[in-house]
Amino acid sequence: MAARKPFAFETRAQRVLFGHGTLGQVAAELAAMGARKALVLCTPQQRAQAERVAALLGERSAGIFDGAVMHVPIASARAARAAAERAGADAAVAVGGGSTIGLGKAIALDSGLPILAIPTTYAGSEMTPIYGLTEDGLKRTGRDPRVLPRTVIYDPALTLGLPPGISVTSGINAIAHAAEGLYAPDGNPVIELMAAEGIAALGRALPGLHADAGDLQARTDALYGAWLCGTVLGSVGMSLHHKLCHTLGGSFNLPHAETHTIVLPHVLAYNAAAAPEAMRRIADALQASDAAQAVYDLARRHGAPTALKDIGLRAQDLDHACDIALQNAYANPRAVEARPLRALLQDAFDGTPPRP
Ligand code: NAD
Repeated sequence: MAARKPFAFETRAQRVLFGHGTLGQVAAELAAMGARKALVLCTPQQRAQAERVAALLGERSAGIFDGAVMHVPIASARAARAAAERAGADAAVAVGGGSTIGLGKAIALDSGLPILAIPTTYAGSEMTPIYGLTEDGLKRTGRDPRVLPRTVIYDPALTLGLPPGISVTSGINAIAHAAEGLYAPDGNPVIELMAAEGIAALGRALPGLHADAGDLQARTDALYGAWLCGTVLGSVGMSLHHKLCHTLGGSFNLPHAETHTIVLPHVLAYNAAAAPEAMRRIADALQASDAAQAVYDLARRHGAPTALKDIGLRAQDLDHACDIALQNAYANPRAVEARPLRALLQDAFDGTPPRP
């Protein structure tokens, strides 16, 4: 048995409600936060869900802002802040995935308005104090305790309409948080338990969701996994995988969850020899013998993309992506070096299975 490393463990002040039907408590939860009236945030596609939430809020609704966009362009953040001010809102309720919750965070960063998040994907933003804002084509991210949602309502019924394709990639996006959490230099035993359980829950749920997107039991398992994996993301530092996906998403405008899905098996293969215990736990959670291959198989078997060339990256972008990912040192179990990193990117571009 490996010797126990010293660790630090910090909890965050957040209230989480989980379960079918918990959305019905949204008005009471808003009141418990001490808020009077909330602006409901959503994307144009999720307007109907936001209207349902506004109806449940009744007189505590300050209206709906449906301008959430991927990567939070500064213009959408400014428009949402102005709408919150005009409506006299003293809180925001974000109904949606990482893009909508990110918009809520942009309002909170500026105004300190508390957020109640109702996640409808598996991205995990609701459990983190991390924000992102895009200005002049550059995505700036940071950490600020003010942006951490005060209350999170996980109601699996709201995820029933998430298309099967996005469900699978979003689930593997969540697995990526937990996988890197298992080799984080600032990891701790509680977070490792959450990471392993989160990967296992998603590993069980994704085949069920792929077979039947309306399977409430599988939806519940997947959202439970997403909560655990999001907590890992919010609690410990991420490494090469998140750095690469940030680069690819931010500089080449690749879609978030798909990029995570394609890159993860290759990063796990890259780090395998340097983090054997983490790999064992990932493989065990997925009931497989090899972590990298298990994630690759999970994606391929369930119709997810496996090649960056299929989601918009061009061959001539690879050298530039490699250069950006080599800038600014960050923690990773194996040293991040130009040649093997370029080879990793080539494999992810081509969609070849991860190299043992
Ligand atoms: P998303 O929020 O962009 O959602 C993708 C699409 O699916 C949108 O059109 C959305 O309206 C739709 N959708 C979401 N839930 C649905 C549902 N239940 N039914 C029908 N349609 C639904 O995608 P995402 O992957 O959740 O979030 C990606 C963004 O979140 C990226 O910008 C990423 O950087 C950010 N993110 C931030 C953090 C953080 O900690 N700050 C964590 C994870 C992701």
